[in-house]
Amino acid sequence: MSHKRGTSFFMSIVENYLKIKSEIPNKITVVAVSKTHSADSIKVLYDAGCRDFGENKVQELLEKQKLLPPDIRWHFIGHLQTNKVKQITKNIYLIHSVDSLKVLSEINKEANKCGRTIGCLLQFHIATEDTKFGFSIEDFTSLDFCNQIKSFKNIMIMGIMGMASFTDNEMLIRKEFKQLQTLFTTLKQTIFFNSNDFNTLSMGMSGDYELAINEGSTMVRIGTTIFGHREYPNKPTR
Ligand SMILES: *Cc1c(COP(=O)(O)O)cnc(C)c1O
Repeated sequence: MSHKRGTSFFMSIVENYLKIKSEIPNKITVVAVSKTHSADSIKVLYDAGCRDFGENKVQELLEKQKLLPPDIRWHFIGHLQTNKVKQITKNIYLIHSVDSLKVLSEINKEANKCGRTIGCLLQFHIATEDTKFGFSIEDFTSLDFCNQIKSFKNIMIMGIMGMASFTDNEMLIRKEFKQLQTLFTTLKQTIFFNSNDFNTLSMGMSGDYELAINEGSTMVRIGTTIFGHREYPNKPTR
């Protein structure tokens, strides 16, 4: 951010975060989505106890990592291109947006090179919009596909992630979250039945996290309600 922020701006970030935390069950992880927001804003929330931060651009993530404490759990939530994987594997905590075998295989390769096992969520496409990346349940009807997903030694599949349609239609959002929850349970009882690590259902953003929690979310990704509106140089929000 180019302009200077006052103390009250930073205080409101902390207040927003603590309010959300106080209103939802303790066991739900809140990932503070800090994309487009400054390292200063992140540090203020860090000092208030937040350790989980979400970014969706590789370059932006790397720049912020350099400026901030090493015990932050960085979550990657944006579309990840195969050729950028190696830049983030050293310091990433959880990749929410794994949407192909190709990218999973690349993460595995790079994780192996730095001697890590990296947590990943499989992103599912449930929203009505075509633009969202992700797997579909049909992919999992292939035994070969399921075996490949499980074959990567340096990957820990920790659950799934999804986004509901961008709409005011609460019924539709609820239906999509129910679909994700069913998918999560189905995978947990089938291909991941012997994995204790498959526990995370990442769904819910500023506009719909309460609905998501009601439908079984274990991890919410909240940007605007904590940090305020994002300012993009030339792009519309979202
Ligand atoms: C930006 C983003 C969020 C946070 O959105 P808000 O509506 O600002 O809370 C959550 N998840 C993903 C994948 C995002 O890209």
